[in-house]
Amino acid sequence: MTPVDTSERPFVLIWEVTQACELACEHCRADAQPRRHPDELTTEEGKRLLDDAADFGDGQLVVLSGGDPLARPDTVELVEYGTEQGLRMTVTPSGTESLTREAVASLADAGVKQLAVSIDGGSPAAHDSFRGEAGSFVETVRAARAAREAGVPLQVNTTVCGGTVEDLPAVRDLVRDLGATLWSVFFLVPVGRGRALDAIPPERAERLMEWLDEVAREENFGIKTTEAPMYRRVRAQQAQARDGGGAQRRGGITAGDGFAFVSHTGEVYPSGFLPESAGNVREQSVVDVYRDSDLFETLREKDDLRGKCGACEFRHSCGGSRSRAYAATGDPMGSDPLCPYVPAGYDGPLPERQRAATDD
Ligand code: SF4
Repeated sequence: MTPVDTSERPFVLIWEVTQACELACEHCRADAQPRRHPDELTTEEGKRLLDDAADFGDGQLVVLSGGDPLARPDTVELVEYGTEQGLRMTVTPSGTESLTREAVASLADAGVKQLAVSIDGGSPAAHDSFRGEAGSFVETVRAARAAREAGVPLQVNTTVCGGTVEDLPAVRDLVRDLGATLWSVFFLVPVGRGRALDAIPPERAERLMEWLDEVAREENFGIKTTEAPMYRRVRAQQAQARDGGGAQRRGGITAGDGFAFVSHTGEVYPSGFLPESAGNVREQSVVDVYRDSDLFETLREKDDLRGKCGACEFRHSCGGSRSRAYAATGDPMGSDPLCPYVPAGYDGPLPERQRAATDD
């Protein structure tokens, strides 16, 4: 894979095409609504955004997310248009009745490169109660199988919080059975409806990441974490303990550094969990916002991180979740409270959650 200069282009550009969704998931970042917002980007504005995104360079990855992208009637058209512009278009539909075999086949015909579905429990009861909709599990699994039948690579997204963490081994089994190529494990950031959920404590997150490292070495599918870049530190430390390996890998993705998010109304955020706008695609190219806005440039300066993330030898390969630091402190350059690691010699302030755990 050609290395990507993340000061020039993101690995992943997410476009939240709508906030409309039939589901009422407990963790929803978008605080999804039953109806489409009247000021959503139109089809023409969306195509202009895709034209601009193509200026990042060949094969730019664009994820159409929501809400439920299939709540828009033009999603297949947008996938086709983006594909014609040389973009690698992927879609993250919600597990609802609209996610039919036919819908999956239309996306495949339009050139979609990957379909990502959310599975938050290994059984219908566990998944449906988290997703707030009876039948969602069955519809999601049916769509996942349809994607595989249509030859579209499958990604499974799972949210980690107090209510789902015990079910992760069962979800891992399902990811394997469905033939997914990638398991994306999202560590809850308390924004949107997710504010009402329990994030797991730092020590539990650390053990979980060690387990994910084992799973990644055993299984045929890949694993990535979302909003938990310290997984890279954990993997490096595990490799070091195992066989003395573990050179730090550069080029991880954090908000604004390899990652950008365009909202349903065109605001450009460093991530969907860091709601500070750096511009709007109705007025500026997303490329200019990504490359030149103060916010994005600041977020890429890992040597300017504050607190223990700033003192950490893993700051270039990890850097902490900027979204969680922002949600916890209002400072996007502060420490990530999910990480229990304290750099050697660091005696500055610790994030709140971690200090509470240490004081117990
Ligand atoms: S202290 Fe910060 S930079 Fe270091 S591993 Fe933890 S989250 Fe990453």
